[in-house]
Formats: sequence, structure tokens, C-alpha cells
Amino acid sequence: MSPDSVSPGKPRLTASERYSPPEIERKWLARWTADNLYAARDDDPRPKWYALTMFPYTSGDLHIGHWYAMAPSDVHARFKRMQGFNVVHPMGFDSFGLPAENAAIKRNIHPFKWTMDNVVNMRRQLRTLGAVYDWSREVITCLPEYYRWNQWLFLQFLKNGLAYRAKAPANWCDNCKTVLANEQASNGVCERCDGPVVQRDLEQWFFRITKYAEQLLDFSGLVDWPEQVTVAQRNWIGRSVGVEISFGLDAPGVADRELRVFTTRPDTIMGVTFMVLAPEHRLVAGLTTADRRAEVQAYVERTRRATEIERLSAEREKTGVFTGAYCVNKLNGDRVPIFIADYALAWYGTGAVMGVPAHDERDFAFAKKYGLPVKVVIAPSEWSGEELAQAYIEPGRMANSGQFDGLTSEKGWQAIADHIEAKGMGRRVVTYRLRDWLVSRQRYWGTPIPIVYCKACGIVPVPEDKLPVLLPEDAAFKPTGESPLGYHQAFVNTSCPKCGKPARRESDTMDTFVDSAWYHMRYTSPHYDKGMVDPVASKKWLPVDQYTGGAEHGTKHLLYARFIAKALHDLGVAHFKEPYLRLFCQGIILGEDHEKMSKSRGNVVNPDDFVSTLGADAVRCYLMFLGPWEQGGPWSTQGIMGISRWLGRVWDISTRDSSELATNGASADSVAERELVHWTHKTIKRVSLDIEKFRFNTMIAALMEYCNYLNKAWEAKAVSTETWRKAVDALLLMLAPSAPHMAEELWERNGRAYSIHNQRWPAWDEALTAEDVITLVVQVNGKVRDKLSAPAGITREEAQKLALASDKVKQHTEGKSIANVVYVPGKLVNVVVK
Ligand SMILES: [Zn+2]
Ligand SMILES: [Zn+2]
Repeated sequence: MSPDSVSPGKPRLTASERYSPPEIERKWLARWTADNLYAARDDDPRPKWYALTMFPYTSGDLHIGHWYAMAPSDVHARFKRMQGFNVVHPMGFDSFGLPAENAAIKRNIHPFKWTMDNVVNMRRQLRTLGAVYDWSREVITCLPEYYRWNQWLFLQFLKNGLAYRAKAPANWCDNCKTVLANEQASNGVCERCDGPVVQRDLEQWFFRITKYAEQLLDFSGLVDWPEQVTVAQRNWIGRSVGVEISFGLDAPGVADRELRVFTTRPDTIMGVTFMVLAPEHRLVAGLTTADRRAEVQAYVERTRRATEIERLSAEREKTGVFTGAYCVNKLNGDRVPIFIADYALAWYGTGAVMGVPAHDERDFAFAKKYGLPVKVVIAPSEWSGEELAQAYIEPGRMANSGQFDGLTSEKGWQAIADHIEAKGMGRRVVTYRLRDWLVSRQRYWGTPIPIVYCKACGIVPVPEDKLPVLLPEDAAFKPTGESPLGYHQAFVNTSCPKCGKPARRESDTMDTFVDSAWYHMRYTSPHYDKGMVDPVASKKWLPVDQYTGGAEHGTKHLLYARFIAKALHDLGVAHFKEPYLRLFCQGIILGEDHEKMSKSRGNVVNPDDFVSTLGADAVRCYLMFLGPWEQGGPWSTQGIMGISRWLGRVWDISTRDSSELATNGASADSVAERELVHWTHKTIKRVSLDIEKFRFNTMIAALMEYCNYLNKAWEAKAVSTETWRKAVDALLLMLAPSAPHMAEELWERNGRAYSIHNQRWPAWDEALTAEDVITLVVQVNGKVRDKLSAPAGITREEAQKLALASDKVKQHTEGKSIANVVYVPGKLVNVVVK
């Protein structure tokens, strides 16, 4: 519904009594801050509720997208608070990383100054939101008191085999001059700058997230997560069950006598007519025959310049080059040519792909292009040996497969796997698409990795009591492709913690996703200096009960945080394995033109402009009203004006002089009384259930309908002062999470005790919410004379009164005496006259 459908209240207030949001919002913010109203105490005996919103990145101003993430989640936290939970709703700043560094470079100021200036500004803006944040728990990730625990975590991981250094092809973004984790380079594009990502062989630090692949696929510890996120994680982890089988090799250039291949389709193994190696495969150089060398080398060079997105693109023509070598399919003795092709990826499976053109679309296209045979081994139904026009990828009957002929492909899968294992040619394996998490970054603005390289001792961890390894402020931080800290002599030159001889510090910094993977823990004890988290506070508050944020973090932050929780659990630091029990993902707020907000489009909405005029309460309510929260929608200035007018009507309703109404229940019309009570309970139920399930737009709509009803009830003047005041109290209590400042002000004006935010959420009586209107059939001497609408639960007396007041009934009762009135509750009134 539109807010304009609310009937206008009577403008009968003097100017000083009118709703003036900026004034009352300033007043209550100051009062709440002075009273420390929202501090969450560790010794509070009530059940805890940890409400967390993804913390903002210190990118500059808080934009309306931040408000869209934070206002509705604050409403939910406030609702839980009023329900009697001891709510902690902390806030902090994600402040290391590329965007801050890039912005600082652009403005020629130091990233630390840029970041901390932004923190001050964003904290001020966040305060105007009027949220229940407990600012005493603030966490800023670029400060040593935070990042020293990243370093401590790194050392624990190193000690326990969860961090390791390895040379591997890494995703390199040439715009950002750094490597990226796979999660940050999905589809071959840099998540920071959308630039192309190429592969480079580099020595890097990794976190062994793959050790937890199986645990990360187990979502049973989660209470309520959106399916889209768990599906995205499952796909990203990409578990596949298959067979690793070795093909025979007899090539003069290599010592290897076998080539290992992974396949999820062992049932098609008799149909292999060629083999494809990734151009980076370690055997390529040795296998290539002299006459093929020049062509193979040129192809390898070309591949190195291609990005993963190009290599995997479905539209891209599949290319490859024959190496001159062959391998042997041990199951049937077939000798098949070995190609290299860029659609085989070195870091997936074994880097070798068996070519089964009859049963794989990509292999089919490749075989057609290079004139390779197509051998059907899974027969489609009614197939009689003819050539296939395209690959047949469905299940079928085994054919051309010797002893396995005639089996269904499902049975054949298992039979061939058994056979391979029995003959020692291979084994069943489970592989994952998930790669280990590359955490090294060749940039300045991040946590220094606490490692020293010593010529004599090798890789030496910095002793825990020497943490933090401080990020020097005076480094030349412009990205060059090499770690800026490497040029900082005072930083890199150190002595070996083991032997004391001169040594070099690691000059890479840590991926900032490490910071955000455990910040929810630090909020429970932000100043604790004996560990990353105070174990007592951790047990008190963690895990997070309700997390909210954008779904785009599904396979990055949300996956890393789950991994870190599981690893810390195994290290005895965390008592939980899932960091976030419930997750709700909000949609995206668009510009007034229905396009994504961007400075270049000029459609960015600055919340400050509206907060300073219409008030934070109006912005909060409008953001909830503009559409289902999980879907988002376009901003509308007209829409927020409508909400602002609606709040004005709430003000009007709540400030009416209720002594104008009848002062006691007896003199008021009891049907009207009941109806008002019914509306109140019905609305409490709707609003409660809606907030619980994050259905904020329908929650606001329910409050609007309630206000319409209250206006009608006021005009009719048929309710008692007391019932009216109860209804207004309920309105304010229900409004308190959404419009906290205004509700507090009106609560005070109505003589209620401070603070409305410490009141209990109103309860509803199910019986009173039952649908209001029933149809009452009215008979006179058994003949139907009228049908009346009446409130459900109407009493006998009221039903009788209503029936006798009907004109149609009066026509048949006038001048007669009423002998009896029969009442069938909720259905029928029969007037017996003589
Ligand atoms: Zn980039
Ligand atoms: Zn040493």
C-alpha cells in the first residue's frame, strides 16, 4: 500500500508540538549516549542474542547502501531486545586493503590518515542512524591491537600445518599489482577492479582450507541460512566423486611410466580416443617430440597470456596442439595421442583430461576439429551403431566395452571402478574444486606476515611475544608489483629469532579477508590482550545468533569465516564450529532511475541530506517500506516524503488529548471497544511475525493500516480513554524499533516511563486476533430478515442489540412483543415475537 492512502489526521497542534525530527533525534541520541542505554553487559543474566551486521569498509562516506544494510538489521536487534534478550549489536570498521590504499594514493595522503579520517566520519554518520550499537566494543582492523591477532592466528596455523608456503600458479591482477585468492578472482576477473587475472608462478603463503572441504559442505550446524548461499558454497567447493586412473606412458623424454588422470565418468573409459594435458603440465616438455617442439612451445606461451575466463569460456573455440607422444589405455590397450589444450587447467584434478568425444560436448568439438575418432561406449536407446551427430551425455547401456557390455552406465561406473582398483590401475577418489586460500598480498596496507627468512635456519616464525610486527608508517607504498615493505630497509632487515644472524622479514602482507574472517570474535572482548578473544566473553556471546549482509559474500567472506571457525575450534580457541547461526541477505538499493547507484550516473543518494531534514526515523522506515528487504529496490524521494507524512500522522494520533473520549468503558460503545482491541492484537501479531522474519515492508504496511483504523476509531468517539491510550501505547511500542527517536519522544509526552526501549514487546492474545467480521443471520420467527456484519466473538447481548436495531428486523417486530431471542454464537439470532 502507499503511505498516501492513510487518511489525514486533524492538524490541530501548535507549532511547538509539531513533529520536528532533527530536534528530537539530537535530544534522544544525546540522552541514550549519556545513559549508555545500549551497552551489552557480560553479566546480564537474560538469554543473549548476538546480532551482527557486516561491518562497513572504510571507503569514505556512508552511503544509502550502508543504511539499507544497517537500519533494518538494527530494527531486528531492537525487536529482540524488547523481547527480553540481552542483545549485543556491535559495530566496527573493515579498514585494511586495496580500496583504502588506492584511494590514499589517488589523494596523495597516507592510507592510515585516509582510513582513520573515514572512521571518524563514518562513526558520526552511523550514530545518526540511532542504532543500538554498543560503541565500547568497536573494532578497527588496521590497528595493531587487532592485527596482532591475525599474526598470532597465522603462527598457530603454521604450527599446525594449516599455513604453508608454496610455489604455485597464482592469480595475478596487473591493475592491482598483487596476487588474489581464487575466491577473489572467480571467472578470471579481479573482484576489486574487474580487471583480467593472469597466472603467474610465485612463492606464496596459503591457508589449508581444503582440509576442511568436507566439513564446509556440512551445513547441518546452521540454523537458518538462505539456500542461495549454501548452494553457492557447495558449488564453489565442488566436490566430485570419480576415479583416478593411470594410463601407460612409454616416451623417451620422460622417466614417468604412467600418466594419472581423474575422471567422474569411468563408465566411458573405453571410449577414450585422445588425451589432453594442461599446457602447464610438468610432463609436457619431456613428452613433446622434436618435430612438434616449436608448435608446442608457441602454444604454451600463448596460453600463459590468456586468462582463466578466456580459457574456460564456452563460446571460445577449443584449440590444442599434438605433442607427438602417445599413452595407452590399460583397460583395452588402445594407444591414444596426447595433446595439450588450454581448456585443461593445471590446478584442477591432475591437469590431464581424458578425451571421450562420444560422451562429452567439449571433447566432441575437439575431436571433430582435429579429426580424432569418436567411439560410442554408452549406447543411447534404439542406437544401432550409427555415427553420433553430437555428444551423448545421458545414461545408457554400455557398449564396445568388452566384459562390461550391456550394463547400465550407472552399474558400469561401479563395475569399472572396482575393476580398476582390483587391477591396481587406480582408485576411487573425491576431488574438490576448492583450492587452498592464497593469503599473500604484494601490497602495503595490510597485516605484515610474521615470518623471517634466515639463510641458515630457513623459514622462522616471529616469536609470539614479539607480536605485533608493526606495519611501518613511513614506507613508500605505491604498488610496483613487488611488495613495498621489501624496500623498507629498517623493516626487512632484522635478525633471525633462532640464530641471531642477519635475516630478512617477509615483506608481503595478509589478505584482508583474514581480518574479517574472525572479527565477530573480537567484538566480545575488543581490548583483551592475552589472546584473540577472552575465552569467558567468547563463551558468553558466541556464536553470532543473527548475521545480516550481502549475498555476494557467499563464497568469500562467509566461506572464510566458516573455515576459520572450524580451524580455531580444532585449535581449542573457539568452542563453536559455525560462526553465524542465522544469516539473512538483503538486496541492493538502486538509484531513483532503477539503475545501480554510481557516481558516474549521478544517482547516488546521500543519507545525510534526508537525515538532516526528514530525520533518521523517516529514512529507516522508508528503507524498510520500499520493497522486500531481500530483494531491494529503487530509491524514491516521493516515497520517503510519503513515509515522512505518515510519521506526522503517527505523531498526530499519539498526541491527541484522549480526555476528549468517554472516560470510562461503561459509557463507551462496547462493539467499538472490542473492535479496537481486536485491531490492536491483530496488528501486534502481524508486526511481531513480520519483524521476526525480516518482512519489514509488510510490517510498516501493517502499522499504516493500524493508524488508519485508529483515525477512524478516533473520529467515531466511541471508545474509552483507557482503551484508546492502550492502543496508542501499543502503536508506540511497535514503532519503537523502526522509529526509535520518535517513539521515545511520544512515549515521554504520553507520560510513560523512560525508556521505551527498555519496555517489553507487547504480547498478543490469539483469541482477540481471530478474524474480526462474521456474518450474523437474523431471523424473525424463523424467517431470514437480515444479514449483519458483526465482530467475531460478539456477545449474546451485543448480538441481540444489533439484531433488534436493524431496520429490516424492526419492520417485523414493530408493535409486537418479543417473547424470546435465540442466539447461536457467531451465526444466528432468531427473534420470536407474538
Ligand atoms: Zn585488480
Ligand atoms: Zn637463523
